[in-house]
Amino acid sequence: MSTQKTTVGYDSKVEGDVIVTQASAVINWIRKHSVWPMPMGLACCAIELMAVGASRFDISRFGMEVMRFSPRQADCMIVSGTVTYKMAEAVRRIYEQMAEPKWVVAMGACASTGGMYRSYSTLQGVDRIIPVDVYVSGCPPRPEALLDAMIKLQDKISDEQSLKNLIPKSNKPDQQKAGLISEA
Ligand code: SF4
Repeated sequence: MSTQKTTVGYDSKVEGDVIVTQASAVINWIRKHSVWPMPMGLACCAIELMAVGASRFDISRFGMEVMRFSPRQADCMIVSGTVTYKMAEAVRRIYEQMAEPKWVVAMGACASTGGMYRSYSTLQGVDRIIPVDVYVSGCPPRPEALLDAMIKLQDKISDEQSLKNLIPKSNKPDQQKAGLISEA
């Protein structure tokens, strides 16, 4: 039952009701199963994004059905559609209003690279204004492709050093001396 990514060591015969693990593993486990998306639907890809919320694809199987249209209640922006220069400023402002930790998925060719729109009005990839964690290819990508991207995002969240990031920078020297975090 152990995989390469397993961070929980548990043997019920030895440890009874006690599970020994790392704080980072628990924090990451909670985060990756409670991602609240901020749907940034800008064009046709947004229809596929809506489809993952419906019963056939059912994003709630991953604990991600709580789509929030308020940046203060969301932690994963899914950019689905063409980002025009006119809209780019609003996309960036909404991203900045989201609390840390936060992630971004660029859904489809337009959000990832500008797609077929090599024009004066179109941003050639949303990663020019905000950091992107996962890119999804396709025009439009199928809903399964978005779900696959969200699983990849979960893998990425699993590998984050969440405990280290929780400690304010001013406290880090003390924590390093105490051996609670590494100096890297
Ligand atoms: S990638 Fe294709 S489907 Fe998606 S927004 Fe662009 S043109 Fe529309």
